[in-house]
Amino acid sequence: MEIQFNSAWSDTPTLVCPGCGGDYLHQGNVEVFQPSHEDAIHGLHTIVGSAITAIDGDLANNPSRRRDGLIIWFHCEMCDVHPGLSIVQHKGNTFIEWLEPLNRMRTDDDWVIPNLPTNE
Ligand SMILES: [Zn+2]
Repeated sequence: MEIQFNSAWSDTPTLVCPGCGGDYLHQGNVEVFQPSHEDAIHGLHTIVGSAITAIDGDLANNPSRRRDGLIIWFHCEMCDVHPGLSIVQHKGNTFIEWLEPLNRMRTDDDWVIPNLPTNE
């Protein structure tokens, strides 16, 4: 899904919600996926948010099939969408796109990992 910006009221364009076209998006948790090497199924998965900080080796939701990936989760003030903006490396290129479906946001409870420290 194409990323759009609103530059109507500011010199710095604002990110537009893929659900409603509004630009009142709030950043939530950030996930970083770092395979130990290309095509690796093991590596580091780091989650940082206001209620959780955790590290595990679960690369299952890596938006990149072969290399590093990052997801910034948002919520919109104007609609019920909780989109994830992914930044993906693939064959030397970097791709930025909204994850689909738009409402696949995971909650903090999904990220709580027993026996790992959190900042709650
Ligand atoms: Zn919206």
